[in-house]
Amino acid sequence: MNWLTNFIRPKIRSIVEQQKEMPDNLWQKCPKCEGMLFNRDLEANLNVCYHCGNHLKIAVMKRLELLFDEGRFVELAQPKVPHDPLKFKDRKKYADRIRDARAETGRQDAIVVAKGTMGGVAVVIAALDFEFMGGSMGAAVGEGLLLAAREAVAEQAALIAIPASGGARMQEGAISLMQMPRTIVAVEMVKQAKLPYIVLLTDPTTGGVSASFAMVGDIHIAEPGCMIGFAGKRVIQETIREELPPGFQTAEYLLDHGMVDMVVERKDLHLTITRILSLLMRPMADARSEPSRGGALKLTMPGKAGKGGKTAKAKSKIVRLPVKAKEADGAQKAAERAAVVPAKGRTGKAANR
Ligand SMILES: [Zn+2]
Repeated sequence: MNWLTNFIRPKIRSIVEQQKEMPDNLWQKCPKCEGMLFNRDLEANLNVCYHCGNHLKIAVMKRLELLFDEGRFVELAQPKVPHDPLKFKDRKKYADRIRDARAETGRQDAIVVAKGTMGGVAVVIAALDFEFMGGSMGAAVGEGLLLAAREAVAEQAALIAIPASGGARMQEGAISLMQMPRTIVAVEMVKQAKLPYIVLLTDPTTGGVSASFAMVGDIHIAEPGCMIGFAGKRVIQETIREELPPGFQTAEYLLDHGMVDMVVERKDLHLTITRILSLLMRPMADARSEPSRGGALKLTMPGKAGKGGKTAKAKSKIVRLPVKAKEADGAQKAAERAAVVPAKGRTGKAANR
């Protein structure tokens, strides 16, 4: 049997080992159309499936690069919060879960706060990292939102929140729920300073996050097909014992029902948000040098129905822009529509359409 052990076995082994050495991370399958995606091409296409346009998740730092001018931004150091105050343990200790998530992501918690410019306008972005325990909101995320809001007020910058979250972090119990009012307070600081607060809803935005800061933006933008809701579809279906409509809890469904102002493809996000900011705020250099511009088009921040005070505050932020009909292409029209839609949506009338 020498030939078996000396010849056949090494040959088989070499074939098996060769297969093992083949990197298994070159390709992946699109979860929607099941088309094969070559990772390098997928990355070049901003993690959007090039067969069906499905928007796959994108790393939080990559997203920030896409949004800020020339991909440049400064990440802000976040204040430390006591983690695991409840000494919580489920199948695994919460302290261990946090430690593992930190090791995997190289991040302290599920939020990144960064500042930079978009179209020359100062912007602070608070983005949740889904990779870190499903982007769940605990004390650190609440603290991060407060930091972002304070920075936006101090720098007279717009605040953009980018939720990507499974909701409140249950391992922090009631403390995680406290972050809901806390983040609302953070957003209110920005609104009182008459600065725009834009929310970019990404997949998924659910639970305590969608029940707090993610749903109180002046303008809500969503990525195509992303899941936005409070409780899961199955839970709702079992509770109300009714069949839910197709497309329920998707960005497009929420757009139709007045909860989202526009659905924008990832490749167009920078341009769209830049345009919105140019309508709501003046680029910093502009504001310093130019006292007023002629041939003006009046645009107001989306006023909240029934709250006269807010509309009045928003009006003080009116920016005068030269009217150039030809330049009013799709994104600008969308931005103008955004200035109108929320007011309608928030009166609740839109839901009856
Ligand atoms: Zn696809």
